[in-house]
Amino acid sequence: MQRTRDEILSDIELWAKERLATGEQTIYLGSGGNGRMGVLADGRMEGEEQSSGRGDENDRHTISEIKSNNLKKTTASAKTSSARIPSPPPSAHTPIPPAAGIPAPRTTSAATRNPQPEIRSSQTPNPTPQTPAPWLSATDLPTLQSLISSCTKCELHKTRTNFVFGVGNPNAKVMVIGEAPGKDEDEQGEPFVGRAGQLLNKMLAAINFPREEVFIANILKSRPPGNRDPKPEEVAACEPYLWKQIEIIKPKMILCVGRIAGSNLLKTGDESLAKMRGKVFDFMNAKVMVTYHPAALLRNPNWKHGAWEDLKQFRKLYDELVGNREAGS
Ligand code: SF4
Repeated sequence: MQRTRDEILSDIELWAKERLATGEQTIYLGSGGNGRMGVLADGRMEGEEQSSGRGDENDRHTISEIKSNNLKKTTASAKTSSARIPSPPPSAHTPIPPAAGIPAPRTTSAATRNPQPEIRSSQTPNPTPQTPAPWLSATDLPTLQSLISSCTKCELHKTRTNFVFGVGNPNAKVMVIGEAPGKDEDEQGEPFVGRAGQLLNKMLAAINFPREEVFIANILKSRPPGNRDPKPEEVAACEPYLWKQIEIIKPKMILCVGRIAGSNLLKTGDESLAKMRGKVFDFMNAKVMVTYHPAALLRNPNWKHGAWEDLKQFRKLYDELVGNREAGS
Protein backbone atom coordinates (compact mmCIF):
# COMPACT_ATOMS: atom_id res chain seq x y z
CA MET A 1 0.00 0.00 0.00
CA GLN A 2 1.37 3.39 -1.00
CA ARG A 3 2.16 5.50 2.05
CA THR A 4 1.48 9.21 2.08
CA ARG A 5 4.21 11.80 2.26
CA ASP A 6 3.04 12.90 5.70
CA GLU A 7 3.06 9.35 7.01
CA ILE A 8 6.61 8.93 5.80
CA LEU A 9 7.67 12.23 7.35
CA SER A 10 6.04 11.32 10.65
CA ASP A 11 7.92 8.06 10.76
CA ILE A 12 11.15 9.82 9.89
CA GLU A 13 10.57 12.48 12.51
CA LEU A 14 10.04 9.97 15.28
CA TRP A 15 12.90 7.82 14.17
CA ALA A 16 15.23 10.80 13.89
CA LYS A 17 14.37 12.07 17.36
CA GLU A 18 15.21 8.68 18.73
CA ARG A 19 18.55 8.67 16.99
CA LEU A 20 19.33 12.22 18.02
CA ALA A 21 18.65 11.28 21.63
CA THR A 22 21.69 9.04 21.41
CA GLY A 23 23.87 12.10 20.77
CA GLU A 24 24.20 12.07 17.00
CA GLN A 25 24.45 15.52 15.47
CA THR A 26 23.20 14.90 11.97
CA ILE A 27 21.46 11.90 10.56
CA TYR A 28 21.44 11.41 6.83
CA LEU A 29 18.45 9.49 5.69
CA GLY A 30 19.63 8.33 2.33
CA SER A 31 20.70 9.60 -1.05
CA GLY A 32 19.10 9.54 -4.43
CA GLY A 33 19.25 11.18 -7.79
CA ASN A 34 18.65 14.70 -6.52
CA GLY A 35 20.46 14.73 -3.24
CA ARG A 36 20.00 13.49 0.28
CA MET A 37 18.13 14.47 3.38
CA GLY A 38 19.37 14.87 6.91
CA VAL A 39 18.04 15.69 10.33
CA LEU A 40 20.07 18.03 12.51
CA ALA A 41 20.50 17.89 16.25
CA ASP A 42 18.08 20.79 16.68
CA GLY A 43 15.38 18.81 14.91
CA ARG A 44 15.53 20.67 11.61
CA MET A 45 15.77 18.74 8.41
CA GLU A 46 18.41 19.56 5.86
CA GLY A 47 18.37 18.91 2.15
CA GLU A 48 21.64 18.60 0.33
CA GLU A 49 21.49 18.75 -3.41
CA GLN A 50 24.31 17.24 -5.33
CA SER A 51 24.29 20.04 -7.90
CA SER A 52 24.82 22.83 -5.38
CA GLY A 53 26.78 21.11 -2.64
CA ARG A 54 25.85 21.23 1.01
CA GLY A 55 22.65 23.15 1.65
CA ASP A 56 22.83 26.55 3.30
CA GLU A 57 20.58 27.91 6.05
CA ASN A 58 17.75 28.40 3.59
CA ASP A 59 17.90 24.75 2.76
CA ARG A 60 17.13 23.74 6.34
CA HIS A 61 13.60 23.42 7.52
CA THR A 62 11.59 21.97 10.33
CA ILE A 63 9.63 18.88 9.54
CA SER A 64 6.40 20.81 10.03
CA GLU A 65 7.57 23.36 7.45
CA ILE A 66 8.22 20.60 5.02
CA LYS A 67 4.88 19.01 5.78
CA SER A 68 3.07 22.27 5.11
CA ASN A 69 5.31 23.20 2.17
CA ASN A 70 6.04 26.46 4.03
CA LEU A 71 9.63 26.53 2.91
CA LYS A 72 11.75 29.63 3.31
CA LYS A 73 13.28 29.22 -0.10
CA THR A 74 10.01 29.55 -1.95
CA THR A 75 11.39 29.81 -5.44
CA ALA A 76 13.11 26.49 -5.05
CA SER A 77 10.53 24.90 -2.83
CA ALA A 78 9.25 22.35 -5.28
CA LYS A 79 12.74 21.23 -6.22
CA THR A 80 14.13 21.29 -2.70
CA SER A 81 11.12 19.64 -1.23
CA SER A 82 11.26 16.75 -3.60
CA ALA A 83 14.96 16.34 -2.89
CA ARG A 84 14.23 16.08 0.80
CA ILE A 85 11.57 13.43 0.65
CA PRO A 86 12.92 9.89 0.34
CA SER A 87 11.18 7.22 -1.65
CA PRO A 88 8.36 5.58 0.27
CA PRO A 89 9.75 2.72 2.30
CA PRO A 90 9.79 -0.17 2.29
CA SER A 91 10.45 -1.66 -1.14
CA ALA A 92 12.61 -4.70 -1.51
CA HIS A 93 15.77 -3.11 -2.87
CA THR A 94 15.51 0.52 -1.85
CA PRO A 95 17.94 1.51 0.93
CA ILE A 96 16.09 3.17 3.79
CA PRO A 97 17.17 4.16 7.27
CA PRO A 98 17.72 1.49 9.90
CA ALA A 99 16.01 1.24 13.23
CA ALA A 100 17.10 3.42 16.07
CA GLY A 101 20.64 2.79 17.17
CA ILE A 102 21.30 0.15 14.56
CA PRO A 103 23.91 0.74 11.87
CA ALA A 104 22.83 0.53 8.28
CA PRO A 105 23.92 -2.46 6.25
CA ARG A 106 26.57 -1.67 3.64
CA THR A 107 26.87 -2.86 0.12
CA THR A 108 30.35 -3.68 -1.07
CA SER A 109 31.97 -4.76 -4.26
CA ALA A 110 31.79 -8.32 -5.47
CA ALA A 111 33.68 -11.08 -3.70
CA THR A 112 35.87 -11.95 -6.62
CA ARG A 113 37.18 -15.21 -5.26
CA ASN A 114 33.76 -16.61 -4.60
CA PRO A 115 32.82 -19.24 -7.19
CA GLN A 116 29.41 -17.68 -7.70
CA PRO A 117 29.98 -14.09 -6.73
CA GLU A 118 27.00 -11.82 -6.73
CA ILE A 119 27.02 -9.18 -4.08
CA ARG A 120 23.51 -7.93 -3.45
CA SER A 121 22.46 -4.87 -1.60
CA SER A 122 20.44 -5.42 1.52
CA GLN A 123 18.43 -3.07 3.59
CA THR A 124 16.92 -2.62 6.95
CA PRO A 125 13.23 -1.98 7.06
CA ASN A 126 11.19 1.03 7.92
CA PRO A 127 12.03 2.29 11.39
CA THR A 128 9.45 1.66 14.04
CA PRO A 129 8.98 4.95 15.83
CA GLN A 130 9.22 4.41 19.55
CA THR A 131 10.51 6.08 22.65
CA PRO A 132 14.19 5.18 23.08
CA ALA A 133 14.27 1.92 24.96
CA PRO A 134 16.95 0.93 27.50
CA TRP A 135 17.95 -2.14 25.49
CA LEU A 136 19.24 0.12 22.71
CA SER A 137 22.10 1.07 25.00
CA ALA A 138 23.11 -2.51 25.81
CA THR A 139 26.71 -3.29 24.96
CA ASP A 140 26.78 -6.97 25.88
CA LEU A 141 24.50 -9.92 25.31
CA PRO A 142 23.56 -10.69 28.95
CA THR A 143 22.43 -7.08 29.43
CA LEU A 144 20.50 -7.13 26.20
CA GLN A 145 18.85 -10.41 27.11
CA SER A 146 17.83 -9.19 30.54
CA LEU A 147 16.28 -6.07 29.00
CA ILE A 148 14.23 -7.76 26.30
CA SER A 149 13.31 -11.19 27.66
CA SER A 150 9.94 -9.99 28.94
CA CYS A 151 9.07 -8.40 25.61
CA THR A 152 5.41 -7.95 24.76
CA LYS A 153 5.81 -5.97 21.56
CA CYS A 154 3.77 -8.38 19.49
CA GLU A 155 1.02 -10.88 20.11
CA LEU A 156 3.41 -13.83 20.20
CA HIS A 157 4.27 -13.12 23.80
CA LYS A 158 0.80 -14.37 24.74
CA THR A 159 1.38 -17.88 23.48
CA ARG A 160 5.08 -18.47 24.01
CA THR A 161 6.41 -20.73 26.75
CA ASN A 162 9.88 -19.24 26.68
CA PHE A 163 11.54 -16.25 25.11
CA VAL A 164 14.34 -17.63 22.90
CA PHE A 165 17.19 -15.15 22.91
CA GLY A 166 19.88 -17.17 21.18
CA VAL A 167 22.85 -19.19 22.25
CA GLY A 168 26.56 -19.49 21.62
CA ASN A 169 29.84 -17.67 21.64
CA PRO A 170 29.35 -13.94 22.33
CA ASN A 171 32.50 -13.27 20.31
CA ALA A 172 31.61 -15.59 17.46
CA LYS A 173 32.84 -14.82 14.00
CA VAL A 174 29.93 -16.78 12.59
CA MET A 175 26.25 -16.35 13.33
CA VAL A 176 23.54 -18.75 12.25
CA ILE A 177 20.11 -17.21 11.87
CA GLY A 178 16.88 -19.10 11.54
CA GLU A 179 13.28 -18.10 11.27
CA ALA A 180 11.64 -18.54 14.66
CA PRO A 181 11.51 -20.95 17.59
CA GLY A 182 9.61 -24.18 17.03
CA LYS A 183 7.93 -26.39 19.59
CA ASP A 184 11.12 -27.81 21.10
CA GLU A 185 12.82 -24.42 21.11
CA ASP A 186 9.82 -22.82 22.77
CA GLU A 187 9.84 -25.47 25.48
CA GLN A 188 13.58 -25.32 26.11
CA GLY A 189 14.22 -21.62 25.50
CA GLU A 190 17.07 -22.38 23.11
CA PRO A 191 17.19 -22.16 19.32
CA PHE A 192 17.73 -25.21 17.14
CA VAL A 193 17.22 -28.06 19.53
CA GLY A 194 15.40 -31.27 18.62
CA ARG A 195 16.00 -33.13 15.36
CA ALA A 196 16.50 -30.03 13.25
CA GLY A 197 18.95 -28.70 15.81
CA GLN A 198 20.90 -31.95 15.80
CA LEU A 199 21.15 -31.82 12.03
CA LEU A 200 22.27 -28.18 12.19
CA ASN A 201 25.00 -29.22 14.61
CA LYS A 202 26.17 -31.86 12.13
CA MET A 203 26.07 -29.39 9.25
CA LEU A 204 28.21 -26.93 11.21
CA ALA A 205 30.60 -29.62 12.43
CA ALA A 206 31.06 -30.79 8.83
CA ILE A 207 32.64 -27.44 8.01
CA ASN A 208 34.53 -27.28 11.29
CA PHE A 209 32.30 -24.90 13.19
CA PRO A 210 31.36 -26.49 16.52
CA ARG A 211 27.96 -25.30 17.73
CA GLU A 212 29.44 -23.70 20.84
CA GLU A 213 31.78 -21.56 18.74
CA VAL A 214 29.08 -19.87 16.68
CA PHE A 215 26.11 -17.82 17.85
CA ILE A 216 22.66 -19.09 16.88
CA ALA A 217 19.59 -16.88 16.85
CA ASN A 218 16.30 -16.40 15.07
CA ILE A 219 14.47 -13.55 13.37
CA LEU A 220 11.72 -13.93 16.00
CA LYS A 221 12.35 -14.59 19.69
CA SER A 222 8.91 -16.05 20.39
CA ARG A 223 7.26 -19.03 18.73
CA PRO A 224 4.48 -18.45 16.20
CA PRO A 225 1.61 -20.80 17.10
CA GLY A 226 1.65 -23.98 15.06
CA ASN A 227 4.97 -22.98 13.54
CA ARG A 228 3.21 -20.71 11.05
CA ASP A 229 5.27 -18.21 9.11
CA PRO A 230 6.09 -14.97 10.93
CA LYS A 231 3.76 -12.09 10.15
CA PRO A 232 5.37 -8.92 8.79
CA GLU A 233 4.37 -6.95 11.88
CA GLU A 234 5.97 -9.58 14.11
CA VAL A 235 9.18 -9.39 12.13
CA ALA A 236 9.11 -5.60 12.27
CA ALA A 237 8.66 -5.70 16.03
CA CYS A 238 11.33 -8.28 16.72
CA GLU A 239 14.11 -7.84 14.19
CA PRO A 240 15.73 -4.82 15.89
CA TYR A 241 16.70 -7.22 18.68
CA LEU A 242 18.51 -9.37 16.16
CA TRP A 243 20.22 -6.34 14.66
CA LYS A 244 21.36 -5.38 18.14
CA GLN A 245 22.74 -8.87 18.67
CA ILE A 246 24.64 -8.57 15.40
CA GLU A 247 25.92 -5.15 16.42
CA ILE A 248 27.25 -6.54 19.71
CA ILE A 249 28.67 -9.81 18.37
CA LYS A 250 30.12 -8.33 15.16
CA PRO A 251 30.26 -11.59 13.21
CA LYS A 252 32.33 -11.80 10.05
CA MET A 253 29.82 -14.09 8.42
CA ILE A 254 26.18 -15.01 8.82
CA LEU A 255 24.53 -18.19 7.61
CA CYS A 256 20.79 -17.83 7.17
CA VAL A 257 18.99 -21.15 7.20
CA GLY A 258 15.79 -21.16 5.22
CA ARG A 259 14.13 -18.77 2.80
CA ILE A 260 12.18 -16.96 5.49
CA ALA A 261 15.26 -16.20 7.55
CA GLY A 262 17.15 -15.04 4.47
CA SER A 263 14.41 -12.93 2.96
CA ASN A 264 13.57 -11.25 6.25
CA LEU A 265 17.15 -10.44 7.14
CA LEU A 266 18.10 -9.29 3.66
CA LYS A 267 14.75 -7.85 2.59
CA THR A 268 14.73 -9.74 -0.66
CA GLY A 269 10.95 -9.86 -0.78
CA ASP A 270 9.49 -12.98 -2.34
CA GLU A 271 12.77 -14.12 -3.80
CA SER A 272 13.01 -17.89 -3.72
CA LEU A 273 15.59 -19.80 -1.75
CA ALA A 274 17.00 -21.04 -5.04
CA LYS A 275 17.75 -17.47 -6.08
CA MET A 276 19.33 -16.55 -2.76
CA ARG A 277 21.52 -19.64 -2.51
CA GLY A 278 25.03 -19.32 -3.85
CA LYS A 279 25.08 -15.54 -3.46
CA VAL A 280 26.95 -13.42 -0.96
CA PHE A 281 25.14 -10.51 0.62
CA ASP A 282 26.41 -7.72 2.83
CA PHE A 283 24.62 -6.93 6.06
CA MET A 284 25.97 -4.89 8.94
CA ASN A 285 29.59 -5.52 7.97
CA ALA A 286 29.09 -9.26 7.69
CA LYS A 287 28.97 -11.48 4.64
CA VAL A 288 25.72 -13.37 4.49
CA MET A 289 24.83 -16.60 2.70
CA VAL A 290 21.56 -18.47 2.65
CA THR A 291 21.00 -22.22 2.62
CA TYR A 292 18.34 -24.77 3.46
CA HIS A 293 16.73 -24.97 6.87
CA PRO A 294 17.70 -28.27 8.51
CA ALA A 295 14.02 -29.09 9.04
CA ALA A 296 13.56 -28.87 5.28
CA LEU A 297 16.50 -31.22 4.80
CA LEU A 298 14.88 -33.70 7.17
CA ARG A 299 11.77 -33.61 5.01
CA ASN A 300 13.65 -33.67 1.71
CA PRO A 301 16.97 -35.53 2.01
CA ASN A 302 17.56 -34.98 -1.71
CA TRP A 303 18.39 -31.38 -0.91
CA LYS A 304 21.32 -32.36 1.29
CA HIS A 305 23.72 -32.34 -1.63
CA GLY A 306 22.84 -28.73 -2.40
CA ALA A 307 23.15 -27.81 1.26
CA TRP A 308 26.59 -29.37 1.37
CA GLU A 309 27.66 -27.29 -1.61
CA ASP A 310 26.40 -24.17 0.17
CA LEU A 311 28.25 -25.07 3.34
CA LYS A 312 31.51 -25.67 1.51
CA GLN A 313 31.17 -22.30 -0.20
CA PHE A 314 30.44 -20.66 3.14
CA ARG A 315 33.54 -22.23 4.71
CA LYS A 316 35.68 -21.29 1.72
CA LEU A 317 34.63 -17.66 1.95
CA TYR A 318 35.19 -17.70 5.70
CA ASP A 319 38.71 -19.02 5.19
CA GLU A 320 39.36 -16.26 2.69
CA LEU A 321 38.01 -13.56 5.00
CA VAL A 322 39.18 -14.73 8.39
CA GLY A 323 41.77 -17.39 7.78
CA ASN A 324 41.73 -21.15 8.01
CA ARG A 325 40.93 -21.30 11.68
CA GLU A 326 37.99 -22.29 13.76
CA ALA A 327 35.01 -19.96 14.09
CA GLY A 328 35.78 -18.58 17.52
CA SER A 329 39.52 -18.36 17.22
S1 SF4 B 1 8.37 -12.21 18.83
FE1 SF4 B 1 9.84 -10.62 19.40
S2 SF4 B 1 8.67 -8.72 19.39
FE2 SF4 B 1 7.19 -10.40 19.50
S3 SF4 B 1 6.82 -10.70 21.71
FE3 SF4 B 1 8.45 -12.11 21.09
S4 SF4 B 1 10.36 -10.99 21.55
FE4 SF4 B 1 8.70 -9.48 21.50
